[in-house]
Amino acid sequence: MRTPHVTLNNGVKIPQLGFGVFQIPPDETKDAVLQAFEVGYRHIDTAQSYRNERGVGEALAESGLDRADVFVTSKLNNAAHAPQAARDAFDRTLDQLGTEYVDLFLIHWPLAMLSDYVETWRALEDVYASGRAKAIGVSNFQRAHLRRLLDETTVVPAVNQIEVHPYLTQTGLRALAFEHGIAVEAWSPLGQGAVLGDETIARIAHAHDRTPAQVILRWHLQHGHVVFPKSVTRARVEENFDVFGFELTAEDLTDIDGLNRDERTGPDPDTFDRMP
Ligand code: NAD
Repeated sequence: MRTPHVTLNNGVKIPQLGFGVFQIPPDETKDAVLQAFEVGYRHIDTAQSYRNERGVGEALAESGLDRADVFVTSKLNNAAHAPQAARDAFDRTLDQLGTEYVDLFLIHWPLAMLSDYVETWRALEDVYASGRAKAIGVSNFQRAHLRRLLDETTVVPAVNQIEVHPYLTQTGLRALAFEHGIAVEAWSPLGQGAVLGDETIARIAHAHDRTPAQVILRWHLQHGHVVFPKSVTRARVEENFDVFGFELTAEDLTDIDGLNRDERTGPDPDTFDRMP
């Protein structure tokens, strides 16, 4: 079955549900991605810092799927923010993936205290102009970071990939993105598992005869987020893909919105300064 798409601000279509490969060891990535393809996923989210782009590329080649039928995202390594370093790093991504282009390339973290992300963005604009990234975007950008790009650069990011789940709903940041036509991609959509045991989620899951993970993913999809849950366990990979046969009610959505605790599972972008 085909997943619904979100149309990005430059017309590129992205499958709303994908497969994330963060923390999948490089030597297990090819098999995990092949399994995801078998289940039906056609959107893979990787990054230079995950060190598993090669495995994604090998799966792509071995699957026999048409390149045009798979959406691949990668992200710039934090150590490569300087404009020439960013352009060179992008070349290495294509080399690792063994493809002529990526569908989406992101600045992984703003690193505002260490580098000038506006200059880095201009390097990504060059890559975009070359046609080797069909769309470009950012990740972990806060409101102030987005505003600077909107004020000082030409290409509006196609996406902002941020931590979002029922315990961290990011209402203001999501609203700013949507207001400017920037799609919201929710990383750690299940809160890395932290939200799965929530009582409200369990009640709603019971009412729909679905699992907590399916209810949380449905909440994301109905809010218009792009998601890419991660699992290497086949049953979970299938469960996470089987989210199009039911719908949450408006009341369910409101109840889940109300779970927000502004609780991060990952680093705070305003203080994160790691250069792996
Ligand atoms: P996630 O919310 O997808 O949770 C993954 C965890 O939940 C794993 O431990 C997995 O075993 C478990 N899980 C998955 N499906 C389940 C199910 N159906 N039932 C029970 N448990 C289940 O968290 P994540 O992996 O951190 O995020 C997903 C993707 O987001 C990553 O793979 C990566 O692509 C992306 N990401 C991006 C950034 C960024 O800075 N841009 C940061 C983190 C993650």
